[in-house]
Amino acid sequence: MTDAQQNAAGAAGVGLDLTGKVVVVTGGNRGIGLGMARGLVQAGASVAVWGRNEEVNAAAVAQLRGLGGDAEAFACDVADEADVTRSMASTLERFGRLDTLIANAGVSGAYGRLHELSIDDWRRVSSVNIEGVILSCQAAVRTLMEQGEGGSLVLVSSLAGIEAPTRNTLYGATKAGVLSVMRGLATEYAREGIRTNAILPGWIETEMTQGSVANQKFTDKVISRVPFRTWGTPEDFAAAAVFLTGSGSSFVNGQQLVVDGGYTVF
Ligand code: NDP
Repeated sequence: MTDAQQNAAGAAGVGLDLTGKVVVVTGGNRGIGLGMARGLVQAGASVAVWGRNEEVNAAAVAQLRGLGGDAEAFACDVADEADVTRSMASTLERFGRLDTLIANAGVSGAYGRLHELSIDDWRRVSSVNIEGVILSCQAAVRTLMEQGEGGSLVLVSSLAGIEAPTRNTLYGATKAGVLSVMRGLATEYAREGIRTNAILPGWIETEMTQGSVANQKFTDKVISRVPFRTWGTPEDFAAAAVFLTGSGSSFVNGQQLVVDGGYTVF
């Protein structure tokens, strides 16, 4: 047996070999979503990337295929029900099945005290962060129930969903909502063998946070609460996505996996 075969057998033995599994990653074309997609293809999964920007989608697919992975991108605005329905149909046509949805697509913004914000700010953030998650989960659950073989839903929330989201209340409300959706689905669909969990990123260096990273005063404040004294990276989410997709997590349901380098316990 070669080293590679031994490693594959070892990964399969603990439910981390994803060969034959198909995973949709919304917002998988950059940042945390792409970090998870890279981990997934390296573990053997086929990945469908859903994102709006077709150029960025294509670059992500090239990167994933460069790792030897099977990947395809589908132009999709998760806030648009017709787009989500079409993207799920295209994913099934291309890959033949679905095993896991990672509902990661999200937007930030709308910073400020509540009286300074408008209801349009709320609509912009919630349409993606909450409605997009709900629409994606509906499409995935319908597919998984039709297949009748169970599956996994992974919803990306945030520390803002469990801590005081000061000057970021609208975003925090959407991310707390994601956790509620997660708990609801974890109980609603367990009988169909579909488990639902959430990943809560801490402070991670991506396009979403590049302004904050560049602000030295803010960065100093953030990393003073991270025992590792650094921002996290998209790579920190690769193995979490693999674990929650693989059969090794088959009894993990309704949980919040915080990936923050210890920020919340400091
Ligand atoms: P990025 O801004 O780097 O990436 C966001 C991703 O979401 C992109 O792939 C983007 O693709 C996609 N996206 C945004 N809106 C839509 C939409 N309407 N339809 C489909 N795709 C969409 O952010 P991160 O990687 O940092 O964030 C990923 C997730 O992690 C988000 O849910 C975020 O809230 C959460 N998070 C991030 C933290 C951080 O510190 N970075 C901390 C806590 C949580 P496109 O623009 O092409 O559509």
